[in-house]
Amino acid sequence: MSRPETVNLPFNATVLADRFVPATQGMPDSGEPGIWAVIRGGALVVEQREGGLCLPAGERPAWLPAGADPVVIGRWEGRPLRAVPMAAREELPPSVVAEPFNASAERLDEATLTLGGMAQQVLHWERNSRCCPRCGAVTERISGGWGKRCVACDAEHFPHIHPCVIVLVRRGDEFLLARKPEWAPGRYGLVAGFLDMGESLEECVRREVREETGVEVTNIRYVGSQCWPFPSQLMAGFVADYAGGEIRVDATEIEDARWFCTDLMPPSIPPRRSIARWIIDHYALNLEES
Ligand SMILES: [Zn+2]
Repeated sequence: MSRPETVNLPFNATVLADRFVPATQGMPDSGEPGIWAVIRGGALVVEQREGGLCLPAGERPAWLPAGADPVVIGRWEGRPLRAVPMAAREELPPSVVAEPFNASAERLDEATLTLGGMAQQVLHWERNSRCCPRCGAVTERISGGWGKRCVACDAEHFPHIHPCVIVLVRRGDEFLLARKPEWAPGRYGLVAGFLDMGESLEECVRREVREETGVEVTNIRYVGSQCWPFPSQLMAGFVADYAGGEIRVDATEIEDARWFCTDLMPPSIPPRRSIARWIIDHYALNLEES
């Protein structure tokens, strides 16, 4: 799939096109057969069928534990799409697998990946918004969206989505890639980090690059974004130009950072379904994905 823009990346709703209609409010569950996006301990439960791995479809799957509470998140191809949490200890029948799902999950098609991402984000919010963070009383859903209102103090709460920046720094033909200690050997990616209070996205870019690598940047430009439902981030992508400084790695977050070029690439770079790779392909390697 050609991806001229980041909206076409998985986890962004554009991937679903008009096949998906979001629930407009605490949509009552019609009880009719539908599609089941079951999240089991951070993995997406899928069935092995002839065409590949698919979300379970039809009546409520018999293997869903009795206590599992579905949330209708919209309609997928005309049928209700329900998100359901399931504990990792619960067993699955042999034809059903819990598939790790992230941008590296090549066995899942992009629509399935995106529906799973939405389910994960919705369930994360549902799990974390049962009680009012102000007074501790229970909350109820505000009609028209995913907001919650406290039954005791009336405070309203809305889904928490955490902005992160991710940035490619360029110096002539070279570009700066860094690696975290927990990544697979040889894997390098972009500098990234969470937005801080009192900070614009561009200021966050400047701070993260400085903190993690010791490098100063200028000419910071926004290039697109990707929903990152692990569990609830928004990745805002940037490119920036080198302005000065020598690489000095912050050993608490980064294991190594180096200047690379097209003739000297690390053994492994981020998966093609991530905005990190999209930025590398478009702004470091000048490739159009095909
Ligand atoms: Zn309250």
